[in-house]
Parts: sequence; structure tokens; C-alpha cells
Amino acid sequence: MDFVSTRQQTPPTGFDTALAAGLAPDGGLFVPQTVPTLPPLHPTGSLAETATAVLAPFVAGSALAGSLPALCRHAFSFDAPLRALHGDHDHLLELFHGPTAAFKDYAARFLAGALAKLRCDAGVDTTVVVATSGDTGAAVASAFHDRPGFRVVVLYPDGGVSPRQAHGLACWGASVLALRVRGSFDACQAQVRRVLADPDLRAHRPLVSANSISLGRLLPQAAYYAHTAAVFHARHARPLGFIVPTGNLGNASAAWLARRMGAPVGDIHLACNANDTLPRFFQGDAYVPQPSRATLANAMDVGAPSNFERLRHWAGGDAPLRDEMTASSVDDDTIRATIAHAQVRHGVTPCPHTATGLHVLEGLRAAGDDRPWAVVATAHPAKFAHILTPLLGRDLPLPPALAACLARPTRAGWLAPGDDALGRWLRQLPRHGLPHPAP
Ligand SMILES: *Cc1c(COP(=O)(O)O)cnc(C)c1O
Repeated sequence: MDFVSTRQQTPPTGFDTALAAGLAPDGGLFVPQTVPTLPPLHPTGSLAETATAVLAPFVAGSALAGSLPALCRHAFSFDAPLRALHGDHDHLLELFHGPTAAFKDYAARFLAGALAKLRCDAGVDTTVVVATSGDTGAAVASAFHDRPGFRVVVLYPDGGVSPRQAHGLACWGASVLALRVRGSFDACQAQVRRVLADPDLRAHRPLVSANSISLGRLLPQAAYYAHTAAVFHARHARPLGFIVPTGNLGNASAAWLARRMGAPVGDIHLACNANDTLPRFFQGDAYVPQPSRATLANAMDVGAPSNFERLRHWAGGDAPLRDEMTASSVDDDTIRATIAHAQVRHGVTPCPHTATGLHVLEGLRAAGDDRPWAVVATAHPAKFAHILTPLLGRDLPLPPALAACLARPTRAGWLAPGDDALGRWLRQLPRHGLPHPAP
């Protein structure tokens, strides 16, 4: 299949090229030329088998087509259980059983496997550059750290990520370097966009982007929605709605894609934190990007969701998009209150991101909605112990992967100030490996 740009100034491009490029050359986002229809899914099949069925039409004709089943077995090697909550028809889709305990592990592992297959050795390491507000950087670092020929540079806002998140960005050994930026996540993202748009730099230092604009991050995520909805439908003969904690709109775009491909996904509701750009839009206001505000659900601190342009293009404009989803904004006090009562009311302890979704579910039930819903649990609560432990007055058991990560030493440095700091830093890199960070 070919991919076109949302800005329509890029010729149709194959999957492999679109994947390696990240952003389209005209500055737009890649979208598939058509949305394929899913084949009938086997409700007793594995998540990896569903992922292969979902992705097959997109990679058809590409160099990756033959290795797709193996790529999916690697990326979807841990379960996404649908757990029943206390309320009738209330569910939690747990996407946090991977190596860095957040949903981003699935797509990051797919992207790493795919780029490793496509890599041609030019005698120089491929540098993966990624800006993160917490979970993306860890998932990408974990996915690439043992891939020969790759090195990862993670930019993150100093003080903008939790202590455990910061550790998770920097504990992956010699092929990963975390660089703190004195600035916001937006400043980190601006540095990454700038180097990716620099053809000179890219000519002698191969770069790839692993941010959520990448097709390799977006498309694989449709798999767990298609799988969960198909299994649910086989059992209950009803569609399952999803409440998706949302920042950059990557995960929610994937839910929408799964439905568009024919999966029995019901309504999609976006749960946002106090960054309310999307709730305002879905309530009828114009789309107006805002500077991001810091909240307890920091991986959703996004005022200008990077996938909005793609979703609007896909849906066919503002008005049709507003018919596809609903959205709510949940403030920090409500997140705290939801975490505090969740064990009693729902039977689970959520991370702050997942708490926004649980609150939305409570609102739907209070309004008399009795359809089946799944709140998407985007991260393991123990990742956010600095918020949860004081609220709950107890420690949370760490999943083994997170405990192993916290036991390893870290490797982090500072990015110098200046708009072109990342570009200057990348230009002086050797052909292989990464320098030791200055303390
Ligand atoms: C990234 C992230 C989100 C937001 O996902 P988007 O795809 O950016 O909307 C929500 N929760 C957690 C824990 C995350 O890491």
C-alpha cells in the first residue's frame, strides 16, 4: 500500500520509506491511501495473530511483508488482558505488561524490529532521536537498546518527568543516552523536529524519529483494539466502547482506525487532563493549539496534539471528525479523588492517566449509560509511586520488569542551551557508539 501526506505535497510513498522518514517531506503526516477492511478475526487467536492480520494490508508489497508475522510475535509478546471492574459492563484494558510498563511498548517494539530489518549498514550507526514527557523515551530506549547498529538519544524536560520515569529513560546501557533539557517538552520536541528537517545532517548521520507521528508507532496500536473488540463481540455479541486517556492522540487514533477497518469497536471517548484543546474542539469550538500545562497525568500534557492533523484528514474535516468521538477534560483534583476511591469503587488502582478514563466512565454511568465500556489502562500505577503512595498511604508492588530497570545504573547528561543544540551535538558524534555524558 502507498501512503500520502496530510498536506498533499508528497508523492505516494511505500510503507518502508514512510516508516524511515517519520514526517512526510512536506511537513505533513503520512496516511494510508485507503483504509483497508479487516479479514474475519479468530477470537481464539493470539494478539500477535490479530496484529499480523491488521497490519498485513499496510505492509503489502513492502520489504517487510514476509517478516510481518515474526515482527508481530516479537512486538506483541505480552498480553493485553481485559479485566472486569466492579460495575456491570465496566472493563479495564491493561496495556502495561511490557518491559517499560506502558502501552507504548507494543508499537516501539514493532518499530524497532521493522527498522532493524530495513537498515542497510552505511558504516555508521543509525541514531534514533526521541523527545519524551516520560513514557515514550523509555519504551523506545528499551525497544532499540539491544539492536546492533542503532543508538538512541532521548531528550526530556528536566523536572518534567517522575523520578521513576527519569530512571527508566537512562538505564539501558551504552547504546542509549538521555539528555535533560532546561525547558518544556515542547522545547524538546522542537529540537527533534529541527534535526529531522536538516537534510545535511541526515546525509552523514542517519536519523530516524520514534515519536508518535511515526506510522510505525500508530498502526500497530490498532491491533489491541481490534483484538479486544473481536474477543468481546464473540462472547457478548455487542460492540465494546473505549475510553482512551489521550495526549498526542496516537492511541485514540488507533482505536478509530480499528473501527474504520471494521472491528466491532463501539463509541470512542477521549479522556484528557486539564490540557483541554481536544475537549473544546469536540464540543464545537475551533481547533486552537495551546501551550501545554503541567498536570499529574504528565504523559498527556499536550496542548497541540501531534496526531490531530492526521485524524482530521482521515475523517474528512472538522465536522465529520466531531461525529466520530467525544472528549472530556479531567482536572488534577478529580484525578487525585479518583485514584483515592478507585480500589473500593472499581477494584483497581489506576495510574494518573488511567484515572482520567475511570472518571469519565463514572460520569457516563451516572448519566444512565449502560453500554459495555473499557477504560484503557495506559501505564502501570507503580510508575507513578511519587503521586500514588502519598495519596493511598501505601507502597505499590513493582512489576518485575520495572524493578529490574530501577536496579540498573543510569546514563544521563545535559543538552547545552540554544536552538540548534541537538544538531551541534549530533554533528560531533563518532560513527559508532555514544560519548560518555558530561555530569
Ligand atoms: C503516551 C501516554 C498517553 C497518551 O497517549 P497518546 O497516544 O499521546 O494520546 C497516556 N497515558 C500514558 C501513560 C502515556 O504514556
